[in-house]
Amino acid sequence: DPVYLNGQYLPLADAGISPLDRGFLYGDGVYEVIPVYSRQAFRIDEHLQRLQATLAGIHMTNPLAVDDWKTVIFKLINAAPWDDQSIYLQVTRGADNKRDHAFPSPPVAPTAFAFASPLVTTPAETRATGVAAITVPDLRWGRCDLKVISLLANVLARQQAVEAGCAEALLIRDGLLKEGAASNIFVVKDGVLLAPPKTQLMLPGITYDVILELAESRGQPLEIREIAETELRAADEVWMTSSTKEVLAITTLDGQPVGSGRPGPVGERMWQWYQDFKNTVMRKG
Ligand code: PMP
Repeated sequence: DPVYLNGQYLPLADAGISPLDRGFLYGDGVYEVIPVYSRQAFRIDEHLQRLQATLAGIHMTNPLAVDDWKTVIFKLINAAPWDDQSIYLQVTRGADNKRDHAFPSPPVAPTAFAFASPLVTTPAETRATGVAAITVPDLRWGRCDLKVISLLANVLARQQAVEAGCAEALLIRDGLLKEGAASNIFVVKDGVLLAPPKTQLMLPGITYDVILELAESRGQPLEIREIAETELRAADEVWMTSSTKEVLAITTLDGQPVGSGRPGPVGERMWQWYQDFKNTVMRKG
């Protein structure tokens, strides 16, 4: 199945990028990951809006119009053999003929890349037990709201989690829970769902927005506010959310049980609401 690169569809083996591409040299680019269920891209408009916001945030023009992105995504989905997929999009500031941190002047053509892969879902057994996580200091920069490909701090945090036998690293900055290395984090205390606010120190997750919408529409008590590390440790439930993880309970944190040590009722309910919502949206098309 083909990948998309700069206006062309071609086999991955034939998709070449210059070693002077600024994505390679500086991590100077942006990305998106869009889940596809039954060959329909979920929340595609929201993902493309976030792509646009991130591009604006790094002073780049979008190389494709929204409808052109949709065509690319549609073609990749239909050329791929799987019903459930993950579509990856990346745009970088392109390849200059010299190495200089400042933007190429005059600008060079951006690099736009996209490909489909099978959606990796969480097995029911893992969902039933929940996963383990660690906390780590948040060493990222000050614009975590932008979905940029410079992911070294996230990479190191996630590797630390893996080496500790854990599924995720929760990032703590100034005593506050911000998010996970590749997920947003929610906390439940005494039946109230707590969500960290959208600031420049957190990625505005597409799944995060769905969770807030579901909580609000279904009467789940919700507080959007900063969560102290101490509150995280005293939580009844902690969950991670992302386009590929959906809603996944964290039942062990730094080796200690979270609440009962098992996935809790609020998270279970939210997972079910999320499935219902997904199925409704996908049926409507
Ligand atoms: N935060 C970070 C740092 C992430 O990398 C991700 C996954 N892309 C998320 C949150 C969750 O975002 P979404 O729900 O849009 O997948």
